[in-house]
Amino acid sequence: MSELPYPYEAPVSQALFDRAAAVTPGGVNSPVRAFGAVGGAPRFMVSGKGAYLTDADGREYVDLVCSWGPMILGHSHPEVIAAVQEAVARGTSFGTPGEGEVALAEEMVARVAPLEQVRLVSSGTEATMSAIRLARGFTRRTKVIKFAGCYHGHVDALLASAGSGVATFALPDTPGVTGAQAADTIVLPYNDLDAVRAAFAAHPDEIACVITEASPGNMGCVPPLPGFNQGLKDLCRDNGALYISDEVMTGFRTSRAGWYGVDGVEPDLMTFGKVMGGGFPAAAFGGRADVMAHLAPAGPVYQAGTLSGNPVATAAGLAQLRLLDEAAYAKIDDVSQQLQAMVSEALTKEGVAHTLQNATNMFSVFFTDRPVRNYEDAKAQESHRFTAFFHAMLAHGVHLPPSSFECWFVSTAHDERALQRIADALPAAARAAAEATA
Ligand code: PLP
Repeated sequence: MSELPYPYEAPVSQALFDRAAAVTPGGVNSPVRAFGAVGGAPRFMVSGKGAYLTDADGREYVDLVCSWGPMILGHSHPEVIAAVQEAVARGTSFGTPGEGEVALAEEMVARVAPLEQVRLVSSGTEATMSAIRLARGFTRRTKVIKFAGCYHGHVDALLASAGSGVATFALPDTPGVTGAQAADTIVLPYNDLDAVRAAFAAHPDEIACVITEASPGNMGCVPPLPGFNQGLKDLCRDNGALYISDEVMTGFRTSRAGWYGVDGVEPDLMTFGKVMGGGFPAAAFGGRADVMAHLAPAGPVYQAGTLSGNPVATAAGLAQLRLLDEAAYAKIDDVSQQLQAMVSEALTKEGVAHTLQNATNMFSVFFTDRPVRNYEDAKAQESHRFTAFFHAMLAHGVHLPPSSFECWFVSTAHDERALQRIADALPAAARAAAEATA
């Protein structure tokens, strides 16, 4: 690809963004899609194939966002598309149970040992919201511990000090969340077991659950320190609270069994989304059968959804999961390692301070030379260098997540050609990062 001027114009995307801004707040349907942190108009995509996206201006990009995680087999995987077409031809929603839901739940349960039962929903937000309601209903307690920088969707009670878009746009808190909704949320620094211990001591018999990202990816990639997740689990058990592991991002991505497959810590409840939907709105929560038995209609805790277990979404998710065998994960891990090495080499060559952190194939680049253990560390990076880096990569046909607080995602479709495109883009981007001024 010839070198494009940087920053460069994208007139069709710009025109679409202008049209969108007239009818949609901020021109996007999810804040992380805006180029709010890096500036400019987001690229409006018209198609995706394998590792590539094509925008409305006809430019092709290597996609390192992968729809924020779901597209782990690349875009338009023929077998996933075939499963979707076959499902669509039979009808798009029945409002009754169907076999696809059972098969998807069975596939998930077979992969993740602590998952004895699952309830399907349509978004990760619904999954975490429902898991927390269930934890409160089960324990008959009110308070929830979450960690600063962890994002669990836009659940009112969980937006305090959240990562992802809340971090990208540096929102101190969100108007519309009442004091009462936030009052039962205890926000603690990530990777700090002493803080969790102190919170349990300060609120005896009041804490219903601890919810944590299994390995956080929404303040950039900040894996749990050794023993942190086990420590959470133990503190929850000792204090009569439930341990909820949010695997919406890591589930079926960081291994065949998600982050549970990496650290083996057994949660009471888990949440899933992204990969399990194959690019469609499907998500889930589940875990201990005795806890799940409290959910309606088996038990008293209400939870429901018109499109939950949608036949097209479950067909896509099931097809994707069935293709994700050990060989697929080995491939994705290998691509990710190659990419991380390439990025680090290019930045090192230009003398740009950086730290790469990964949770198997999920990773992010922090523009700091210090390890990032929590949200405060993540915020201390030189984000202005990321802005320059991002735009230079985009100009050279590589689409990164438009924020330094997000993970980069790869897929089985990221082949030699895609890696070469990235390798070609990196020197100029590293130079741009080196030259960037705050
Ligand atoms: N939990 C985690 C860890 C996430 O990363 C996300 C979304 O990025 C969510 C929950 C919310 O999922 P959704 O965007 O499907 O509502």
